[in-house]
Amino acid sequence: AKQVFSFQEGNAQMKQLLGGKGAHLAEMTRSGLPVPPGFTLSTAACLSYFKEGNVLSETLWGETLSALESLESARGQRLGDPVNPLLVSVRSGSVTSMPGMMDTILNLGLNDETVQGLSQQTGNARFAYDCYRRLLQMFGNVVLGIQGHYFEKIFNQLKQKEGVTQDQDVSLEGLQQLIPDFKRCIQAQTGRVFPENVQEQLRLATEAVFQSWNNARAQIYRKINRIPDSQGTAVNIQSMVFGNMGMDCGTGVVFTRNPSTGASELFGEYLINAQGEDVVAGARTPQPVASLRNEMPEVYEELVSVANRLEQHYKDMQDIEFTVEKGQLFILQTRNGKRNAQAAVTIAVNLVKEGIITREDALLRIEASHLDRLLHRGIDESAVTEVFATGLPASPGAAVGQIVFDAEIAMEWSQAGKKVVLARPETTPEDIQGVLVSEGIVTCRGGMTSHAAVVARGMGKPCVCGCEEIKIDEEQKQMSVGSRIVKEGDWVTIEGASGRVILGEIPLREAEISEELSEILNWADSIRKLKVRANADNPHDARMAKQFGAQGIGLCRTEHMFFSPTRLPVVQKMILADNVEERALALEQLLPMQQADFEEMFGEMNGLPVTIRLLDPPLHEFLPKEKELQKKLDELRHNPIENDKEQKAILALIRKVNALEEVNPMLGQRGCRLGIVYPEIYEMQVEAIFRAASRCLENGIKITLEIMVPLVGHVNELITLRTMIDKVAKQVLGESSEGQEVPYQVGTMIEVPRAALTAGQIAPYADFFSFGTNDLTQMTYGYSRDDAEGKFLTHYQDQKILPNNPFQVLDPDGVGLLIEWAVTAGRSIKPTIKTGICGEHGGDKESIFFCHRSGLDYVSCSPFRLPLARIAAAQAAI
Ligand code: ADP
Ligand code: MG
Ligand code: MG
Repeated sequence: AKQVFSFQEGNAQMKQLLGGKGAHLAEMTRSGLPVPPGFTLSTAACLSYFKEGNVLSETLWGETLSALESLESARGQRLGDPVNPLLVSVRSGSVTSMPGMMDTILNLGLNDETVQGLSQQTGNARFAYDCYRRLLQMFGNVVLGIQGHYFEKIFNQLKQKEGVTQDQDVSLEGLQQLIPDFKRCIQAQTGRVFPENVQEQLRLATEAVFQSWNNARAQIYRKINRIPDSQGTAVNIQSMVFGNMGMDCGTGVVFTRNPSTGASELFGEYLINAQGEDVVAGARTPQPVASLRNEMPEVYEELVSVANRLEQHYKDMQDIEFTVEKGQLFILQTRNGKRNAQAAVTIAVNLVKEGIITREDALLRIEASHLDRLLHRGIDESAVTEVFATGLPASPGAAVGQIVFDAEIAMEWSQAGKKVVLARPETTPEDIQGVLVSEGIVTCRGGMTSHAAVVARGMGKPCVCGCEEIKIDEEQKQMSVGSRIVKEGDWVTIEGASGRVILGEIPLREAEISEELSEILNWADSIRKLKVRANADNPHDARMAKQFGAQGIGLCRTEHMFFSPTRLPVVQKMILADNVEERALALEQLLPMQQADFEEMFGEMNGLPVTIRLLDPPLHEFLPKEKELQKKLDELRHNPIENDKEQKAILALIRKVNALEEVNPMLGQRGCRLGIVYPEIYEMQVEAIFRAASRCLENGIKITLEIMVPLVGHVNELITLRTMIDKVAKQVLGESSEGQEVPYQVGTMIEVPRAALTAGQIAPYADFFSFGTNDLTQMTYGYSRDDAEGKFLTHYQDQKILPNNPFQVLDPDGVGLLIEWAVTAGRSIKPTIKTGICGEHGGDKESIFFCHRSGLDYVSCSPFRLPLARIAAAQAAI
């Protein structure tokens, strides 16, 4: 097949074959824009070059030379012609744009002979030698692998000798001297001589650009952006135009809109008397494009009109490279411009308003996973001086505070009005109060779905997890990375979106939902089919959820209400009770507390559905750790004061804690198993729920109540608990005046594989299924969520054994199959059964797409993920 295409043959649709740069150069050529002529060696050519073991085949080289011949006759010049030499650039260009990651060589075709020709043709010897020294630098660097600083050192010595600072002020004689110096440098560094033969230059440059596909930075960029390694790069060979011929020449880059604010204004920079590389390299400070209007008014007008045309043509903001040669404008590249999350939203909305794209187009262009960056505070990047450590970007947003290493100190300090950041080796549920009062969280161990991360995300609290390089010394109250030490009370800033822990107080920027974002969210709401609910455990989160567009609460975890400092002791008393009476007493104390919580939640949601899940975790999570009790005991023993009674109490406590301890708590006494073995706990919760509902109704608040039973594996579990719920409901409501009606539904979580498999048996007793995909993933894969990430999951992803972390992206083939099976089985028995998911996956774009495809009724996610979920659900429906 044909491997080389002239710019006249290609078009934008041929991006796979020609790469982005080549396809768009061709498209611009076809639409009559001033593009210097050239041709493209296809990505397929690149792949066969790799396949042959980095050998350029004779056919490819033959095609290249004949394309070159056509170019030569079009330009009336020849590569290597001593009188009128053609110069070309050899440019990389991949399918997915990877700005600056691969290599390009300019001014190719110069040698000791042709430099004379160029000089005579243009009547500008200084310019000719400037091009020549640039070629030696780029060729030396890209093709021969010499580090740039060798050349810069020689160049700087020359500038010093001439007493100038700017490249363009170096004299002709100086440049002429530089050529042999650079050549000697090449020989000294590589033992090779710079090829005077221009065809050899072209061949080596082409191969080097192919090979730049595999340089380290390109590989890393592909990994981060999930670009397949198998694409390869095209090579564009293009006749040169010169921005470095004098003061009526220049080069620059413009964006058709502002890429950081989205404002509709031409945005960019240029340099007079320079070549393209100078703008990015930073050797000279470029000027803002606005001043081109005065310096070259005609060029500016034309640039504005080209920019408009390109934007209209591609219907998106463009990033355009241009060069001006003797007052004449040339376009060298266009691509959809990269932009930050805020700009992306603003630009999409404006393009709709300007009639360039539809609402659907606009929605499809929003990168949903970037949205949460808009809802969290950010840091002022210019103030960042020292990054202390980097971990996993577990929960976005920025936080500033004084570092503490202990949840209790976090509470003390925050009560005293201090802002704290809590750093822990890892977090346990006991730390949750510390988490609650902290501005942000840092952990040394644990992954993106570790407890700390999930909790922090749920609260919208910045969190950096798995910061393995940090060593925390709890005794000394300090943490260190190598020899750098941070002590309790020192100020730190954490930036959760990038996973950085930064020393000092960095100024923050406030977050808000911009007008444009709320507009685009409204469009999404009118398109999506999936309903969107929030996981919220307290009135504050419920309020946030409503503000971010929740259509109900999909998961209210009642155990989170047990962790507050006033309640935990009562909860512990309840758990440690020696007999039913003692337990009943503690439960009696808890009941009004829970009831108050529920009343507040109902009040907040006023008629929107609220799904309340009965107690789920194993009881020992509410108790102190044995290790800590032992420590206390040791302290008491060292204490000379009589404290026998206290010691005995702790010993008793240790026995209880030991008795409740399980080898494998995740698969142990939790969820409905707990509710069946200790019925009085669930009874108390259900009673509190109905008392709250009935009270709210009396006060004119609307109620849509859904009670959810966790961890059902066998239908009998649900039957037992449903009977209990109905009984308690009747009791509570019967007590109230004239037998009040509280409509309620009872449903179950589907999170044990057996429940999914027997969904048809469960459905008659369930009004809804809520897929708890965290546990369902854990049990389907047989991966312990708390261990997998630190141990083998990352390895699995690196080795590409798994495409994704299944705790982040729902596994459609396995876990997904169970969900689809359960939905189908459930609906065949009870067509009206409501279905949704409430795991972490509810806030993940790909997982939301899956839920849409499988016809679920809703997804439920943490409040901060709601905008993402609304947009992703709309994208799935388009
Ligand atoms: P990158 O992908 O890193 O931007 P490019 O291939 O776009 O690399 O080229 C680097 C610089 O060289 C750009 O500023 C570009 O405009 C300039 N350039 C490339 N080809 C030519 C040419 N034929 N004439 C003038 N300048 C060129
Ligand atoms: Mg470029
Ligand atoms: Mg669960």
